[in-house]
Amino acid sequence: EASYARIAETEASIQAFLTLDEDRARTAAKAWDEQYAKGEADSLLAGLPIGIKDNIVTDGLRTTCASRFLENFVPVYDSSVSRKLKEAGAITIGKLNMDEFAMGGSNENSAYQTTRNPWDTNRVPGGSSGGSAASVAALQVPFSLGSDTGGSIRQPASYCGIVGLKPTYGRVSRYGLVAFASSLDQIGPLTRTVEDAAHVLQAIAGYDQMDSTSANVEVSSYPSALTGDVKGLRIGVPKEYMGEGVDPVVKAKIMEALKVYESLGATWEEVSMPHTEYAVAAYYLLASSEASSNLARFDGVRYGVRASSPDNLLDLYVKSRSEGFGQEVKRRIMLGTYALSSGYYDAFYLKAQKVRTLIKRDFDEALSRYDILLAPTAPTTAFKIGEQVDNPLQMYMNDILTIPVSLAGVPAISIPCGLADGLPVGLQLIGKPFDEAGLLKAAHAYE
Ligand code: GLN
Repeated sequence: EASYARIAETEASIQAFLTLDEDRARTAAKAWDEQYAKGEADSLLAGLPIGIKDNIVTDGLRTTCASRFLENFVPVYDSSVSRKLKEAGAITIGKLNMDEFAMGGSNENSAYQTTRNPWDTNRVPGGSSGGSAASVAALQVPFSLGSDTGGSIRQPASYCGIVGLKPTYGRVSRYGLVAFASSLDQIGPLTRTVEDAAHVLQAIAGYDQMDSTSANVEVSSYPSALTGDVKGLRIGVPKEYMGEGVDPVVKAKIMEALKVYESLGATWEEVSMPHTEYAVAAYYLLASSEASSNLARFDGVRYGVRASSPDNLLDLYVKSRSEGFGQEVKRRIMLGTYALSSGYYDAFYLKAQKVRTLIKRDFDEALSRYDILLAPTAPTTAFKIGEQVDNPLQMYMNDILTIPVSLAGVPAISIPCGLADGLPVGLQLIGKPFDEAGLLKAAHAYE
């Protein structure tokens, strides 16, 4: 009831949800109430109303990817994460807005609506998991799920002043996540606190035979890792992440956070990650290449909208895709198809893969000397709606501090570290592969 009251109060100005299904949610809540009354609901998440990003399929609940293409797509199965959360008792009240097919960083690429930042409704919530971040920040739901391919959990968490965790690639099953760039996509929680993130990760992490890239690595107890003790923690601060493009007000907040860590008994040093400057270029080639292949399934035959009265089969594909996809999605399909085409493959796709390896080595090297790396999540605070929409290159640069982490596949978390000019700044902590426990512990000690 509290959740619905809050939605009634805030949703007209925030516009976080694409689909709300009150009947289903109430039925599920009632069932948990009854179990609770019998003393049978022992899960910590039982009865919690949550929202899920609209690229994560939910059985019987419309899943659009914020695209016209999937306007009427109602999945007939659950993603592994929504199944696990359901089993843990969480109640999905609806699906959250995003940039179309998770391509973007502001929610302005949604085919339906632009979600607003609860701190200032003239500003973007970030993206692509902007609905997921805004909903939690507006206190509509205690937590939500998002997906992060190049920063889409961390950057909106940063802009909205909440916690966003991108787990290690392979830690959380991608089964039922509509693929954008399969070698980068990862699902994770957006929450109000680090402790909440630990609990949600606990519920969704672990090996899944339905996802061939799911990692069979033991899942430790995340909540019990939150001891508050970071004495002796060695922090590396990549100097390339504190360079010219980073707003001085953001840098100042990060320096304050480092002082807090010092006072808790941690030490820090500057470290160099020399290949950082090539990350954005490599990412946009690789992510677009994978997207061009993944999105081939949207042909007007198998899923979603079908163009009316086509002349022939080819015309059906062309018309359906022309009508169903938005501008940014088309841009990426064209860029990716170009980078993969014979004659250009070696020069672009293969070269970008090699750069990815060099970036991964930067992380291997730095994480062999430090327990965690610390940086801003984004170079600036939330920008104004409409400010960057005509300049895709400028938009792409917003992810310069989150993209390298995605290319390396390592885990990272964004936590709030104060306000600059009244807007939240995000602190990014980056951990060793599969050491989400260490990452959460370090983040929790600061919080
Ligand atoms: N903003 C980045 C992009 O547009 C990252 C998106 C994401 O992580 N899904 O590709």
